[in-house]
Amino acid sequence: MYKRVFAALLALMLCVSLTGCAKKETKSVSFFAMDTYITISVTCEDAQAALDWAQALVEANEKKWSTTLSDSLVSRLNAGEKEALDADTARLLRRAEEMRAYTDGAFEPGIYPLVKAWGFTTGEYRVPLDGETAELLRQVVPDNVRTENGETFLSGGMIDLGGIAKGMTGDMLTEGLKQRGVDSALINLGGNVQALGAKPDGSAWRIGIQSPYDDSVMCVVSVKNKCVITSGAYERYFVGEDGQVYGHIISPFTGRPVSNGVASVSVIAEEGAMADALSTALFVMGEQAALDFWRAHEGFDLVLLTDGGTLYVTEGIWNDLTKRSNGAVKQVCEIKR
Ligand code: ADP
Ligand code: MG
Repeated sequence: MYKRVFAALLALMLCVSLTGCAKKETKSVSFFAMDTYITISVTCEDAQAALDWAQALVEANEKKWSTTLSDSLVSRLNAGEKEALDADTARLLRRAEEMRAYTDGAFEPGIYPLVKAWGFTTGEYRVPLDGETAELLRQVVPDNVRTENGETFLSGGMIDLGGIAKGMTGDMLTEGLKQRGVDSALINLGGNVQALGAKPDGSAWRIGIQSPYDDSVMCVVSVKNKCVITSGAYERYFVGEDGQVYGHIISPFTGRPVSNGVASVSVIAEEGAMADALSTALFVMGEQAALDFWRAHEGFDLVLLTDGGTLYVTEGIWNDLTKRSNGAVKQVCEIKR
């Protein structure tokens, strides 16, 4: 009798323990959205369901936040319409404004008139005349998002969230995946890499930072629960009739594509929206101002490559960085506070 009860209990325990830790699987998905190639990989029980949710979120955000889609929420705001905002868009606009203030205007959500004039929204690139640039700079209206009676509109100018939307999307993905029980995921939104937790084996994710000149990797950083977000002029640029290279990050101070001796800057931090906006802003600031900004602020690390081939690495990430032999890098310098 006891034997039989014992056997039944044992069988029950085995059953509970088996269903209690159903098998985890690793799956990934790649697709094109937000103007870039996206790869998301997750390790959890129903990996396909998590990936389906993640892809749908990226596509929904693109529909709301793109400036190239004429019926997106941002395009409608830019056309002067009033809109009732969803909570995510309200959060994105608030964070964009906070980052403008934090970077003293180097990150400027109101940059859209200039991005458009130089042809980066359509691919019909052109170099505006100096007089036109000065007029366009007057159309950049900082802090222009207003909300009255539950409706949001722009008090002037137009907005472009291309320098922060992918970072915010990465934050929403890591938060949502965590809620779905995922504790290990890697999200790559075209060079914006966000790591949730560690690799399935518990070790740190190893994230390659690309050379600005080709597809090769110039260094690898090891991180857990952090993002590595890079800005450079090499992803989207055109060569003018004058032979000059014009990149897609525009200085809100000169109205011209940034060309200041910085080849690429990567920000390593916990929050994607912050790291994304910051990488754009530090690229605008230039080598010395970017390093000074790092010294004056906490909460992030930098890997900054100059046109001359110096790779500056701030002290917080120094021990977690492995340099690869790469023609883009002539010397590596640790930056301390
Ligand atoms: P990517 O989107 O290629 O990863 P960034 O995050 O640096 O690169 O964002 C660049 C985009 O941000 C540009 O394509 C443009 O839409 C927008 N942008 C350009 N200059 C600025 C600026 N000074 N401040 C804020 N956004 C900018
Ligand atoms: Mg950015």
